[in-house]
Amino acid sequence: MRYKSMREWLDILEDMGKLKHVKKAVSIEHEIAAVGKKACGRYAIMFDNPKGSNIPIVTGLTGSRDFFSKALNVPVSELASHFEKAQTNPRECKIIEKHLSPVKEVITKDVDLGKLPIPVHHEKDSGPYITAGLLIAKNPETGERNVSIHRLQVTDKNHLGILMLPRHLMHYYRLAEKKNQPLEIAIAIGLDPIAMLSSQALTPLGQDEFCIASALYGEPMELVKCETVDIEVPAHAEIILEGVILPNVRELEGPFGEYPKYYGPRGKREYIELTCMTTRKDPIFQTIVPATDEHLLLGGIPREGGILQLVKNAVPTTTAVHLTPGGTGRYHLVIQMEKKNEGEAKNAMFAAFGSSQEIKHVVVVDRDVDIFNPVEVNWAIATRCQAARDVMIISGACGNKLDPSTKDGLSDKMGIDATVPLGEPEGKFEKIRIPNEENIDLEDYIEG
Ligand code: MN
Repeated sequence: MRYKSMREWLDILEDMGKLKHVKKAVSIEHEIAAVGKKACGRYAIMFDNPKGSNIPIVTGLTGSRDFFSKALNVPVSELASHFEKAQTNPRECKIIEKHLSPVKEVITKDVDLGKLPIPVHHEKDSGPYITAGLLIAKNPETGERNVSIHRLQVTDKNHLGILMLPRHLMHYYRLAEKKNQPLEIAIAIGLDPIAMLSSQALTPLGQDEFCIASALYGEPMELVKCETVDIEVPAHAEIILEGVILPNVRELEGPFGEYPKYYGPRGKREYIELTCMTTRKDPIFQTIVPATDEHLLLGGIPREGGILQLVKNAVPTTTAVHLTPGGTGRYHLVIQMEKKNEGEAKNAMFAAFGSSQEIKHVVVVDRDVDIFNPVEVNWAIATRCQAARDVMIISGACGNKLDPSTKDGLSDKMGIDATVPLGEPEGKFEKIRIPNEENIDLEDYIEG
């Protein structure tokens, strides 16, 4: 393992010249988000002096695929397949003693969120939000762990509003609430790219996301037991909040600027009561500015891994998949294949739509198209697709509620087959090429 904490990852970024410090005092209301958004993809930023707090804030730790390539030690083109491999070969975690865990250096049962520099990100957000917290919970019946990220609205010194979509955490919460019991949780803030990424895996219910992190680290992820709840948390985090999601309580949460670049609406949602906070003695607060590439890639890369696996199972000639940035890293999928039989593109679309509710529009292209290049994908649609033959539309399927064009999540799906039909005359779809173009260095030819 080359790093196992956010601090070690920050050191790597510093060595690469990719971590920049902001020394002047910066407001946690909008200013940090604005600067973070401008830097995202180019630099990680550490705000050394957020106004009103002596705790520094970091953001943009993984703002581009190049950062993830460095973090996972694989080329950009292999990020999805590398993640998929870890997901199919998970490894156990290890629980370490409290005295070995830096996040236990300071322990307080008198939780005061006002002591943390929690930013307000967008104009119409209802207030400060924790956006980079891994929420850890256990199935109240089986004890199986779940890890996920949720938007967490600061309501007062020890309460958080939460948005849960109908996924694993919601399922655990409902099991507890049915028995009128609170669901114990912990929230970990200040983590390295592998821990963050693993939390976004498209897993079956019951698969422990931290075991995917262990596989990616190449050694067991180190966890430590909480003080007030029966949950284990990343031992090298900066900050841990412990608490419960209260049964039969709903409080107003939102609006909040979300990944599709719209506001998620205000509504009555589940409510967290905090029971303990543990931190390092000099903690660093991490935030992710919503809808930036950092946010979209954290969700996008693990989804690509999971989708690749499912689409490959259905159509083995599939070679790669990509969730495009314009499609918010969720809704638009490009599939690349080496088609051997007519119809494989459509079968791949079915598998993709079945892999995740969020997949809305799918484009299938041939092996000679660079799926990370939107101009090439557009070119394939422009020159290899005939709409009456190649476009498939399915109405009224389950989509994503945060897509404002859906009817509360009821969504149409569209597939575009932009692969060359089989059996076309030789050369008809051959890409033009200038001999030796790839070896020409323009600098050798121009002067001045
Ligand atoms: Mn899960």
